[in-house]
Amino acid sequence: MIDLSLAETHKGLKEKKFSSTELTQAYLDRIEKTDDKLNAYVTVTKEIALEAAGKADKEGKFKNPLAGIPMNLKDIICTAGIKTTACSKILENYIPPYDADVWARLKNAGAVLLGKANTDQFAMGSSSETSYFGVTKNPWDPERVAGGSSGGPAASVAADQCVFAIGTDTGGSIRQPASLCSCVGLKVSYGRVPRYGVISYASSFDTIGPVTKTVEDAAMVLNVIAGRSDNDSTTPDEPVPDYTKSLKTGLKGVKVGVPKEYFEGVEKETADAINQGIETLKKLGAKVVDVSLPLTRYAIPTYYLLVKSEASTNMARYDGIKYGHTTDDAKELLEIYMKSRAEGFGDEVKRTIMIGTYALSAGYYDAFYLKAAKVRALMKQEYEEVFKKVDVLAAPTSPFTAFRIGEKMDDPLAMYAADTLTVPAGICGLPGLSVPAGFDKNGLPIGMQILASQYKEENLFHVGHAFEQATEWHKKKPEL
Ligand code: GLN
Repeated sequence: MIDLSLAETHKGLKEKKFSSTELTQAYLDRIEKTDDKLNAYVTVTKEIALEAAGKADKEGKFKNPLAGIPMNLKDIICTAGIKTTACSKILENYIPPYDADVWARLKNAGAVLLGKANTDQFAMGSSSETSYFGVTKNPWDPERVAGGSSGGPAASVAADQCVFAIGTDTGGSIRQPASLCSCVGLKVSYGRVPRYGVISYASSFDTIGPVTKTVEDAAMVLNVIAGRSDNDSTTPDEPVPDYTKSLKTGLKGVKVGVPKEYFEGVEKETADAINQGIETLKKLGAKVVDVSLPLTRYAIPTYYLLVKSEASTNMARYDGIKYGHTTDDAKELLEIYMKSRAEGFGDEVKRTIMIGTYALSAGYYDAFYLKAAKVRALMKQEYEEVFKKVDVLAAPTSPFTAFRIGEKMDDPLAMYAADTLTVPAGICGLPGLSVPAGFDKNGLPIGMQILASQYKEENLFHVGHAFEQATEWHKKKPEL
């Protein structure tokens, strides 16, 4: 039963083929059996899970599609009474007093929390290697990374350690690990899901979304977590459509743009698989046209300047007093700040604070931060223009398949390059979906990225679902 999709699991519960308690126990057993190898979970909430499952069974109706469904949350999503560490030393023992909106909505729908999933520290990274609790390994090859920063959520979905997981995507952190682990990963439009209670990385970029086994599952989860919240003024009032209504199989009348810049510097096997995928879209009736987005070339410097600037200010609240770790080796206030932060943050977080503070400082602000902000505005215009001509864009998610653990850790720029194809959607606030689209000769997964204009998640579900139904990639499972 642990290999079922969310839609199938919901059906099984409703038809009493198994209870939520049996299901939850099966997932807990699976975690126990496989997580030594993967390190996808940093906290397992066994009692809380079994209690929620028991409650769902007692109630017995499973009216909400998420009722009784075992899942996990990336460990930067606040859970009242349950440790939320951002996979950092500074928050190693932090227990939030309140729930993030996204978790409150899921809990209210009856979802069963199995635990908190591993991530790069404060979601900064592309490989989960910056986690204070050790790297998450790729279920397809444990010598390789699961991607990041939502490596835990992606590996746990791929390895059937949960039905679905919730991650965050600032510049690729859901889509890239989903691609590297062969699952479905949805980055929503900026504002579609409230950020309240999710530890901030870059506040004008951060989004929250599901990692799932199928496209249908992603639509089902989004139905529950999307929509306005009074706790987050960046969530629009727009009603949330029933996203499962957009799961059609034909693509007649759908216009797909193929941006040539998204194929530059991409590994040949990945490019071949995506071109093959685009042929499939054509066969399903889509009209495919070539498009060009020349500013994509500036996406990496633009993204990292802006994101690190925002993050450097967000990190200021971790002063060793208000939250988490306090040094025991200081006598006066400034020394407490400095030592607590020096001891509590990992290298990538420190790099972030240095780059961001530099880019924002007097004299450099105009040359770096302001310039990047202007490029961001131009990029948004460029993407808006393209979406007047096409319904979606189709491209690779990652320029390469899963790399070896340690391979890029000493070279931050090589690591940043892993996000070349995912950061534009972060910069422009656009939704994007990664769907399984093949394997390379080493048996490593390849993902196809579909992008749409803001709040057009429906287009992603339509094209993603049609593609998935016409292919078998999502059915392949790693051997563990
Ligand atoms: N690797 C990118 C970064 O470090 C993306 C991370 C994310 O989306 N959270 O900024």
